[in-house]
Amino acid sequence: MSVEVNKLHFSYGRVKALDGVDLALPQGAIGLLGPNGAGKSTLIRILLGFLVPQEGQGRVLGYDIRTQQSLIRRYVGYMPEDDCLIPGIDAVSFTAYLGELSGMPKQEAMKRAHEVLYYVGLEESRYRLLETYSSGMKQRLKLAQAIVHDPKLIFLDEPTSGLDPRGRGEILELIMDITSKKDIQVLISSHILSDIEATCSYVLILDKGKVASEGKISDLKRIDYSMFELKLFGETSGFIRRLEALECRVEEMEDKLIKLYLPPGRSPQEIFRIAAEDKVQIRHFVKSQTSLEDLFAQVVGVD
Ligand code: ATP
Repeated sequence: MSVEVNKLHFSYGRVKALDGVDLALPQGAIGLLGPNGAGKSTLIRILLGFLVPQEGQGRVLGYDIRTQQSLIRRYVGYMPEDDCLIPGIDAVSFTAYLGELSGMPKQEAMKRAHEVLYYVGLEESRYRLLETYSSGMKQRLKLAQAIVHDPKLIFLDEPTSGLDPRGRGEILELIMDITSKKDIQVLISSHILSDIEATCSYVLILDKGKVASEGKISDLKRIDYSMFELKLFGETSGFIRRLEALECRVEEMEDKLIKLYLPPGRSPQEIFRIAAEDKVQIRHFVKSQTSLEDLFAQVVGVD
């Protein structure tokens, strides 16, 4: 296991950010999901050794998150969400500098900086000052600096944030190339569920500082949740309240058209029975393919 943690607790003063997180992440590309404030960034900062948990233990690539932070930074790459770029220098100097900060000798860092900038498609702009970079170029540069020191594991925090569809596609392709060809394990935190679905096979969903769900995306979608689309006719509010009382989640999509998530153990027959009792006609009842978005809505709720 490349990442293993037990009973992690972390609070910022009185704000609980992580509340007993246990994880054992397998190899491969892993998506980290959760609503705002779920604790994703805090978890990444702890795994990188930037924050020390008040309680709990953990290892990243076998290194202790409490005592071996510099080794973790040597073998782990990080693409932060915020702009971490230094104005006034060019891309190659910036990338080489970050390589040195991760423990590479100066010359080797410079050589690798050229290689990774070529890899992300910035070879022609590598001597340009960073403040002249577009958003798409900045994201590719942040990805380049995350891999400059040849890490075994990289954490990508919102890698496609602020990008247009083309820029987003380019970054996703690079991520897929990294995971498939370069034998680097990737943990991607994103709000864009389709990006996670495109790049990851395993997902970890955090909510309120706890693990709300975890597993292979295909298994989670198949086993735990059944989702249907219903077109209703009649007075539906009482019917919907009864469904919610059964712990079904109901999303009203448009007039009388609802998406219904059935929790495990509930059958469609029950829904028809309640509809008949409430004199609601179900005119259309179709099982939907569960998307990651549906799974997410089921696990953490929809705002
Ligand atoms: P987002 O998706 O919005 O980035 P997140 O899942 O990354 O959220 P965290 O940033 O880890 O969540 O925050 C978890 C909780 O800790 C939130 O309630 C947040 O307000 C709080 N928090 C985060 N950083 C700090 C800080 N430096 N000081 C005080 N509270 C903080």
